Amino acid sequence: MLRLVHEKGSCRDDAHVASVIDGYDDSTVRRLRAFVERHVPRCPPDVDRGAHEVEVARFHRAPPPMFMAIARIDAVWVHDGLLDARDYKTGAPFVEEVREDAGARLQAWILARYASTRGLTLRLRYECLAAGVADDPDPFEPDAEDLEAITEEIRTVVEAMWIEERDGDWRGVADAEVCGWCSYRSTCRDSAAVPADPGTDAGD
Ligand SMILES: [Zn+2]
Repeated sequence: MLRLVHEKGSCRDDAHVASVIDGYDDSTVRRLRAFVERHVPRCPPDVDRGAHEVEVARFHRAPPPMFMAIARIDAVWVHDGLLDARDYKTGAPFVEEVREDAGARLQAWILARYASTRGLTLRLRYECLAAGVADDPDPFEPDAEDLEAITEEIRTVVEAMWIEERDGDWRGVADAEVCGWCSYRSTCRDSAAVPADPGTDAGD
């Protein structure tokens, strides 16, 4: 919904927001409106560019094992020398700092490469948009030491996956929500994706 709001106008334009959420039942409209109201003060007002539902990838070559990591992020804004990445959360915050979340560390590790090649500083922020949530977790601006530690963390996980695979013990998450958007769903034997989209799946 925020993607539609931002792609066709501004989240600060009430009439535009109303046109995007028009058509839902009253309670859904109220809920979506409340999400937008909590989002607006967090949204960077002046951006050079932005994108939504971005899938990013980073290839790791050495030290072994080699692997490709992919991540999705709800929104990425470029402004004031920042690559300002946002994940919108509709539940209660489950960490006090974004860096505590393993998923965020993976997102940051991948996005950091994009940021550094463009001369930008990466900041990863969670926008907790649920009612009653006062503060977002502290954003994560990984430094070189953080990124080195994350490289080692991911590398260790992949190494363990390879060992499990070799021993025939590897099992994927088999979670329909995760598998549904994974680029590797057509080749993963543990995919729980519903094969409802052969048009986009067949070429993966
Ligand atoms: Zn916004």
